[in-house]
Amino acid sequence: MKLIIASNNAHKIGEIKKILAEKFEEILSLRESGIDHETVEDGTTFMENALKKAREIAEISGCAALADDSGICVDALGGAPGIFSARFAGEHGNDKANNALLLEKLTDKEDRSAHYTAAIALVYPSGKEVTAEGYMFGEIIHSERGEGGFGYDPLFVPTGESRTVAEMTSEEKNLISHRANALKELCKKLDSDA
Ligand code: IMP
Repeated sequence: MKLIIASNNAHKIGEIKKILAEKFEEILSLRESGIDHETVEDGTTFMENALKKAREIAEISGCAALADDSGICVDALGGAPGIFSARFAGEHGNDKANNALLLEKLTDKEDRSAHYTAAIALVYPSGKEVTAEGYMFGEIIHSERGEGGFGYDPLFVPTGESRTVAEMTSEEKNLISHRANALKELCKKLDSDA
């Protein structure tokens, strides 16, 4: 069966293709499948947004579709920015502004614990749905370190590590990331279904 990944983010597509390669005959990004579609992400949870994206692409394409939604939840901020991670400081995808705002909001906070969450939804043309979530726990440091990764990675040190995610190689990140953990969980569910 053909799988379409409901994303054009090269970082995510590479990671997903590698992990699911044996489970589908062909895996294509949205762009590779010639689909130009933007889902309005108005869900109230990561999973609602992932399901909405995957359902729309399965419906448009008639193929299986996989979507993810992810973000960072900071304990001292009551779980914020959460589903609003990409536009925490207003402008969608402005990593520098988002990181500066996060540091500002944590200035007087002792508890700097946080976790990334990734929700993944796989929707088949039959309407069958398989979902999984994955996490990466750690803490927010006081200033940015490292050039790799994206988003909040220069501020996030995973539990048991001394480096930020931005100081790791993409291979190292892909072993422990929330997205990798969600994909592994999804694979387990697909294997137990087979
Ligand atoms: P989306 O899943 O592409 O909508 O990502 C939402 C936002 O969450 C991103 O723009 C980043 O700010 C943040 N985020 C999600 N995953 C990661 C990650 O692996 N590293 C750093 N930031 C992330």
